[in-house]
Amino acid sequence: MNLYGAAKVGGDILAYCGKCKRDLAHVIIAMMGTKPARVICKTCQSPHNYRLGESGSSSRRTSSLAPKAPRATKTFVKNSEYWEQKMATKKQLPMKPYKTQELFQLGDVISHTKFGLGIVEEVKDNGKIVVLFRDEERTLIHGMGASVR
Ligand SMILES: [Zn+2]
Repeated sequence: MNLYGAAKVGGDILAYCGKCKRDLAHVIIAMMGTKPARVICKTCQSPHNYRLGESGSSSRRTSSLAPKAPRATKTFVKNSEYWEQKMATKKQLPMKPYKTQELFQLGDVISHTKFGLGIVEEVKDNGKIVVLFRDEERTLIHGMGASVR
């Protein structure tokens, strides 16, 4: 049963919209033989290639909500190699000695008395920074004792 009648340019058709992530009414803007080739989503107005609806052949539906394996994957890349690559791009930068009172920024190169050189990979808003050292990533505190306004 086809609620929308024979497919033709300018006609309506039910298609899967990748943007809205559901089957929605679309307007056909191009045909390939007797089949719609391109359609415009009536809901989000975005044009895309025609795809069959949920009941169609689009079986390879991957869930983007699947949780990423936490950190485990990272060990595939040797931390030291990653660190060396990163450091190579930071040669020009002055390194800052690590102090808990110092406030660091993303991309800063810091020298830690114990862990050596590291690169600030992430600045968290709770006074912590994630620093990539040669052996591993560490979370350090920073901006300690900075006056709170
Ligand atoms: Zn849409």
